[in-house]
Amino acid sequence: MSRIAVARIDLSALRANLARIRTLAPGAKVMAVIKADGYGHGLERVARALADADAFGVAAIADGQRLRAAGHGKRIVVLSGPDEPADLAEMRRLKLDAVIHHESQVQWLESEKDPRPLAVWLKIDTGMHRLGFAPEAVAAVRARLAALPSVDPDIVLMTHFAASDEFDNGTTAEQIDCFQRVTADFPGERCLSNSAGVLGWPQARGQWVRAGGLLYGLSVVEGKCGADFGFQPVMSLKTRLIAINALQRGEKVGYAGTWTCPEDMPVGVIAIGYGDGYPRSAASGTPVLVNGQRVPIIGRVSMDLVTIDLRPAPQARVGDTALLWGPGLPAEEIAAHAGTISYDLTCGMTRRVLFVES
Ligand code: PLP
Repeated sequence: MSRIAVARIDLSALRANLARIRTLAPGAKVMAVIKADGYGHGLERVARALADADAFGVAAIADGQRLRAAGHGKRIVVLSGPDEPADLAEMRRLKLDAVIHHESQVQWLESEKDPRPLAVWLKIDTGMHRLGFAPEAVAAVRARLAALPSVDPDIVLMTHFAASDEFDNGTTAEQIDCFQRVTADFPGERCLSNSAGVLGWPQARGQWVRAGGLLYGLSVVEGKCGADFGFQPVMSLKTRLIAINALQRGEKVGYAGTWTCPEDMPVGVIAIGYGDGYPRSAASGTPVLVNGQRVPIIGRVSMDLVTIDLRPAPQARVGDTALLWGPGLPAEEIAAHAGTISYDLTCGMTRRVLFVES
């Protein structure tokens, strides 16, 4: 194959990760969060592999359309929709659950005459201050929703954590307390935890958990990768070594010559760059695996190419495989070198990358 970056998606790892979430959250139903094209792994393929999930969570009605078109009959929750009044009819047509987080959405529901009941998740802002009703508004909003014949009476109560990945951060305990206080008098299922909530906050389990990252084997807990919690990486990003150059001491590598050879040495060039979604911010020293051997990136990541120090892998040859992340090289580690989180990396793959399944 010519120069091409390949993202291999391990569907059995996805399934194993769903099973692992069930082990960590016994008794809870699992909403598989597959927004952003399944965190960049491919919406339809991820949904197919996760057919055992209890619901899917998406960010856009268009994702719901794609999932229904692919034949999925299960519950699909649009995590921030409807976004406008016209969305309501489409959500009913597709049987998508709505997350009601704002007064304007309540007014849209109150002013429509559609008799078909819409399933609603009522989002409470317990401290993240992004989406959701303030604690003092919840009782009145819930009563208004419950009074509407066009709203399914089984309203699920939900909130979202701002810092559940920091297991010693008291914010999450405060959010849980707030949620329990605000919802104490209401019937209905509860849904609080994201992936880090599943890992670190068992008291927040409720009847549902909403897990994304862990399904893909990814963790946002500082200094930890998914494997540290018993999860398997799902995406392996690979390319090939397309050139090896013998450079001399003092020669500079790449745009702006940010890296200088400390001695005569082999410098490899691999066929991937920010045009494929590999982070341009990955600093010199970010590891790559060449034939299983760790070697560091040197110089700047360019659009199509990355340069690597081949001194640790002197046997490397043009055509050899380079792994950018996957089993043996956690995306979390690359993300740390690039000043971001692993989700950002997998979500960032561009159309130039060839996706294959195994
Ligand atoms: N719930 C909501 C509302 C979200 O926005 C997200 C992701 O951003 C998730 C759950 C899943 O989070 P994670 O991927 O960390 O499990």
